[in-house]
Amino acid sequence: MFQKILIANRGEIALRVLRACKELGIQTVVVHSTADSDAMHVRLADESVCIGPPPSRESYLNIHQIVAACEITGADAVHPGYGFLSENAKFADILAAHNITFIGPSGDHIRIMGDKIEAKRTAKRLGIPVVPGSDGAITDDKEAKRVAAEIGYPVIIKASAGGGGRGMKVAHTEADLEVALQTAKSEAGAAFGDDAVYIEKYLEKPRHIEVQVFGDGAGRGVHFGERDCSLQRRHQKVWEEANSPALNTEERSRIGGICAKAIADLGYSGAGTIEFLYENGEFYFIEMNTRLQVEHPVTEAITGIDLVHEQIRVASGGGLSVRQEDIKFNGHAIECRINAEDPRTFTPSPGTITHFHTPGGLGIRVDSGVYSGYKIPPYYDSLIGKLIVHGRNRVECMMRLRRALDEFVVDGIKTTLPLFRDLVGNPDIANGDYDIHWLEKYLAKGE
Ligand code: ADP
Repeated sequence: MFQKILIANRGEIALRVLRACKELGIQTVVVHSTADSDAMHVRLADESVCIGPPPSRESYLNIHQIVAACEITGADAVHPGYGFLSENAKFADILAAHNITFIGPSGDHIRIMGDKIEAKRTAKRLGIPVVPGSDGAITDDKEAKRVAAEIGYPVIIKASAGGGGRGMKVAHTEADLEVALQTAKSEAGAAFGDDAVYIEKYLEKPRHIEVQVFGDGAGRGVHFGERDCSLQRRHQKVWEEANSPALNTEERSRIGGICAKAIADLGYSGAGTIEFLYENGEFYFIEMNTRLQVEHPVTEAITGIDLVHEQIRVASGGGLSVRQEDIKFNGHAIECRINAEDPRTFTPSPGTITHFHTPGGLGIRVDSGVYSGYKIPPYYDSLIGKLIVHGRNRVECMMRLRRALDEFVVDGIKTTLPLFRDLVGNPDIANGDYDIHWLEKYLAKGE
């Protein structure tokens, strides 16, 4: 087991990882920018190292500073959290070269999954169902037209280097295709420095369903069921559930089994999430994230397993603590992402939190790094906390969620809490009847 882990992140996830380390009796080091000196995880860590000024490029993304902090403090492993350097293959390679363990998969696996064309090709080879589309990058209009005619309109053109929902264009007819292709290529070139694009069938009313997987790096793979993250705004997840209200037990174990086998065959190590669009009973792979996800607590709630403990165990060579048959799904969980944003316009609302009171009671978990008197710096993501609610079934979970949202107080700034108070009373949400476009339509109606 590791002696000392350096946490290369901030906010709620830094605290989340810190808690797991403390439980395992591992010493903790946190790195932080000058804007985060007062953060809760900095106060609670055994050691902290200031690695630079507020802009992420000069601090949380500064590989040299982080490696230097490892050397100075004698950390033997790094947990990258999510975002920042968590899917940076070069960072994983550099740490390996310094004999520091990156708590995550190999640089090569990060690289494969970071290139969407390569990821899709790999998924297909491993027996994972993919969206029908071009085999690789599309370079000319003639080929684009041929592929689109074959799979049928509408189609979506996506950037191979894409991320954050950028560089995607939908074409409903052949007449739209040329323009969509050119726009997607130039947007991808400008945003990612790589203008490779590919074509897929555009699914009109899918749900976003993702499978949590783990590999031990030695040929064993397991799945922890799925999460439904269909409630999104601008491709950003807002509300996540486990299990998905749309799947039955047979579908769950079928897709889970396919993913677990793929991970085993790949020789993958650590936590990963295989993301699908789901429509008319079919799953279509869109991408794989090679890290811990923001929404991992809903999976922890229904399985009772600490996924960060598992990550640390696997990275230290201790293997997984569970076999597939040990993983049982118990009840239902929902997570609401609480952002420091205006609940109607979603403009960021940094500032000082004058009063912060979190709900409690059976089945309630709040993961947050903020506190009364905390000043939210304007430089980073607006996520200030996550409310995770567990119940024996979805109805009980929703009842408890409504109560917990009523109890939650964040004064001094605007937050997205009022949005969740509206959603929890909506009949479509109560019925679990929503797709990936539902929230955007709902928000458009309200304005
Ligand atoms: P990114 O890495 O940019 O987030 P993804 O491939 O994960 O890109 O897709 C982001 C979102 O775009 C999906 O959650 C979905 O809403 C939409 N999307 C992607 N591919 C398709 C498709 N083939 N049909 C319909 N919507 C899609």
